[in-house]
Amino acid sequence: MLATTSPISYRQLPLRLYQIGPKFRDELKSRFGLMRAKEFLMKDMYTFDVSEETATRTYATVSAAYDRLFQQLEVPFVKVNAATGMMGGSLSHEYHYISPVGEDTLLQCSSCGFAGNSEVLETSLQESPTSCPSCKSTSLSTVRGVEVAHTFLLGDKYSKPLGATFLNTSGKPQSLVMGCYGIGITRIIAAALEVLSTDQELRWPKLLAPYDVCLIGPKQGSKEQQPAEAIENELLGNIGELCGHQELLHDDRKELTIGKRLLEAKRLGHPLTVVVGAKAVQPEAPKLEVHLSDGDSLELDINEALKLVAEHSQHKRDLLLGRFEQYKEKVGHQL
Ligand SMILES: [Zn+2]
Repeated sequence: MLATTSPISYRQLPLRLYQIGPKFRDELKSRFGLMRAKEFLMKDMYTFDVSEETATRTYATVSAAYDRLFQQLEVPFVKVNAATGMMGGSLSHEYHYISPVGEDTLLQCSSCGFAGNSEVLETSLQESPTSCPSCKSTSLSTVRGVEVAHTFLLGDKYSKPLGATFLNTSGKPQSLVMGCYGIGITRIIAAALEVLSTDQELRWPKLLAPYDVCLIGPKQGSKEQQPAEAIENELLGNIGELCGHQELLHDDRKELTIGKRLLEAKRLGHPLTVVVGAKAVQPEAPKLEVHLSDGDSLELDINEALKLVAEHSQHKRDLLLGRFEQYKEKVGHQL
């Protein structure tokens, strides 16, 4: 596109163009649950700079944004070197989620932390490496990875042959220095669920869960219905205020037993499911049941349950603000 428009001026650079759009792939076999859908959303971006130096700065800026995004999702990821030296581009990284269903084989060095895509390493070395390309240690192990994002510093690999130029400060045409960046948006969701979930229950990254809290009240016609409903209604307001009303799913299908609704809530993997049942109205120490998405369940009084909701919301706010430090052990490793 930039090759066919009249040359742009160095004053208009850097230029970063992105699009989010559906991609289609004619998969013969749909395998691995959500992983191989025929339609998926992809975000890609192309950047244009005046020099290798400024393009490298752009690469660092975009990479930092990608690193932040993957830390916010709290799914363990590895960032691997994908530069071969043969691509024309001098810098390239892939972001992978580690999963046995991954289609890429990654090599990890336990000595220095280097990680690479074995296919890329084999292409550049002509054979499978037996020692770490970075520190020469032989403590290499292989894991399967699902690629969820990719960054490339392309240099003038495409702009030169296509004649995509800009006018430099002396008014002379000069090749644009390009970068290319992609995130598989729907693939991240599918791969994150693949990595975190169990066979029976979905587990979501906190920031991607459709709801924070699911509230289940008493069954119609049960002994505890009236007094428990009073607590349920109070919680609707209190929980909604703490986490935002749009983040609270109220399962008010009162014709269903609590057990049936709880089973469905667990399958959907809400981070917190609060049950107001018979124990909520017992005269001695009334308790709510709170089910966590990691399979744990707790019996808490109302204030303790609300505290848990507040902590969950605070955790999400911290992630959005880039405060990862206190949650670091859960973020996993970035190489
Ligand atoms: Zn190493």
